[in-house]
Amino acid sequence: MKKIIYIALCLVGFISCKEKPGEVTAYVSPAPEFCEDSAYQFVAEQCQFGPRVMNSEAHDMCGDWIVSKFKSFGAEVYEQHADGKLYTGTPVKMRNIVVSFNPEAEVRILIAGHWDSRQWADNDPDEANHNTPIDGANDGASSIGVMLEIARQLQLANDSNRVKVGVDLICWDAEDNGESASGNESSWCLGSQYWSGIRHIEGYTARYGINLDMVGGSNTVFYREQYSMSYAPAVVDKVWGAAQRIGYGKFFSYDQGGGYITDDHLEVNRGGIPCIDIIGSDTENGGFPRTWHTLNDNIEHINKETLKAVGQTMLEVIWTEQ
Ligand SMILES: [Zn+2]
Repeated sequence: MKKIIYIALCLVGFISCKEKPGEVTAYVSPAPEFCEDSAYQFVAEQCQFGPRVMNSEAHDMCGDWIVSKFKSFGAEVYEQHADGKLYTGTPVKMRNIVVSFNPEAEVRILIAGHWDSRQWADNDPDEANHNTPIDGANDGASSIGVMLEIARQLQLANDSNRVKVGVDLICWDAEDNGESASGNESSWCLGSQYWSGIRHIEGYTARYGINLDMVGGSNTVFYREQYSMSYAPAVVDKVWGAAQRIGYGKFFSYDQGGGYITDDHLEVNRGGIPCIDIIGSDTENGGFPRTWHTLNDNIEHINKETLKAVGQTMLEVIWTEQ
């Protein structure tokens, strides 16, 4: 089992540090190494189906692929099929995919992200593209790519390095066809709204949840999102702390930013499980990533370093949970 050793410089006056100032200490993480090349490949493979917009063949085929990949990593997979309706009135066939490792474990943590892609590039600089579906390489596929690599690592973990808790990975459907700039909050996150009311297993709960959204872009930073801070501040501290500990503080910023973002984590919180959102912001303008809801949200703008920062932080959280 390959162990990752993180070198931390012991700073003067740092209270928890027993060594003398200036000494170098090593933190040995119990987590395996997250492979960003593998996560990237999983993102690319989803994009190859084409935009995974609701009711499309690409959507159905990619859904089948996601289910079969998770099964190939030894997970138990549940599917929730349900009828929904977009704010436009269009009926949609929704499919949440719930993946469980160590299903018998009582203590569970939940990691989630949406797998559908938006059917309108309505933030594209060229207005002619506003009704064109997006690839959603970052906005959708990146979360599932990271979750697939987490699943692969969970399967690879040998007997001496098994995780102590149960891990559930939920792929939400129908997140991304909401009404922009309207305040119509309930037009987003239809899959998680459904699950929040009707769980894949009656009475299912988790210790906490972490939702991933736009976790593979270039020029990306993650701020502490405000609903996460209201509903689940301890989980924010845990995750941001884990990222600092293993050297990804550059990506997980303590600066002000992020605001209140309507995303799938809200529905998980409303369903009684404290849940945070790790959602990408642009390093320069602080808003959503520059490819957000544009035709540029494609595989060319996926950054392996960002996938690695998020994926390794998730493994650190999973493997250190008692
Ligand atoms: Zn989106």
